[in-house]
Amino acid sequence: MGVIVKVFCESCNAAWDCHTGCGMQHGALENVTSLFPKDTERILKDYAARNEWPMFDFAFQLAVCKNCAGIVSVPALKLFESDTSYVGVCPDCGKEVKLIKSPSRISCPICKKSMLKSFETGRWD
Ligand SMILES: [Zn+2]
Ligand SMILES: [Zn+2]
Repeated sequence: MGVIVKVFCESCNAAWDCHTGCGMQHGALENVTSLFPKDTERILKDYAARNEWPMFDFAFQLAVCKNCAGIVSVPALKLFESDTSYVGVCPDCGKEVKLIKSPSRISCPICKKSMLKSFETGRWD
């Protein structure tokens, strides 16, 4: 079950609602491949076809998109066998994003005046 997080800035009142974690349907590798860009999708589909029980870790994670100056949630996948990680692109503009560990450690991408804050607003799936 995933968590819905509200990330906000106290200086400019910007706020983002982000779905983090993963849902029921994300337990199978075949179900998450389409969340990634086409070239990554191909690699993952190939991997899923070759491994009957692929060991992986999947979750939507918070990220900052410099292009949109916003906080987004992107799919992030780690394959244990090859120790390879894949991160999706910004859902709004399709550009690369930077994962953030904690919103309280980055400054607001809009006004850059204060560090971001966040709290849980609910659950999804
Ligand atoms: Zn973007
Ligand atoms: Zn701000």
